[in-house]
Amino acid sequence: MTSNDLSKLAIHTITTKPWDIDTAISKYSEAGIHNITIWRQYLEDKNLNAIKKNLDEQKMRIVSLCRGGFFAHPEKENREMAIHDNESAILQAAELKTPLIVLVCGSHPAQSLEESRKQIKEGIERILPLAEDKNVRLGIEPLHPMYADSRSAINTLRQANDICREIESRHLGVVVDVYHLWWDPQLEIEIRRCGQMEKIFAFHICDWISPTTDLLNDRGLMGEGCIPIHQIKTWVEEAGFNGTHEVEIFSNRYWQMNQDKFLDLIKKSYKDYCL
Ligand code: ZN
Repeated sequence: MTSNDLSKLAIHTITTKPWDIDTAISKYSEAGIHNITIWRQYLEDKNLNAIKKNLDEQKMRIVSLCRGGFFAHPEKENREMAIHDNESAILQAAELKTPLIVLVCGSHPAQSLEESRKQIKEGIERILPLAEDKNVRLGIEPLHPMYADSRSAINTLRQANDICREIESRHLGVVVDVYHLWWDPQLEIEIRRCGQMEKIFAFHICDWISPTTDLLNDRGLMGEGCIPIHQIKTWVEEAGFNGTHEVEIFSNRYWQMNQDKFLDLIKKSYKDYCL
């Protein structure tokens, strides 16, 4: 691989939030980036066949659909709604020939983390048969513990690995996101374990700016913060992962700037800090 090789670079549509789906597809393709992860809000009221055709014409490969999950809720009715939403995500993914759905598993402040984890496991078990039938893989993305109150009760790679061991399916695996996992002293060991189980389904990159001004929307470009991105990428690849490096940046600051210029910065920081 040369230092200019963009063949493994992927971008999440949320990264360039102001661009609609067709603009994002054209701009990434023109920039020589041919892998895309689509966030589902960009598909609302859209004709999936037309999007698929556009992707094919621009030689774009979909890495994953973001996102499913949110299984945890004290009310059964809400948990059932989440199951239906995940099932529709699986059908969308199948229609777009997307191989993977990212799962943000959910949590709820009105119940214990143990209860949320139980519901997450039940939720995954409920949707797995459809995912297997449609040949769509599900990737559990452990989230940073600062989100344990409301977004995910799965906060370490070890927890995600354990669920994959408990629920045996080759359609269930893990999404390694440096933003959520970089702080974990067990990270290297658990990445190796995840690789041995052949469960590393995806790899997300960005950086942790210090001090962070917003716990959701102040992610940085690679190299701008304190995450040892290259080190983690090396561990993931030594564990057998051979897939794309997905840039997933939520940033009020970057969403306000000219998105063409932002895309140039993404390419530059990727070349400088990830290759
Ligand atoms: Zn992610």
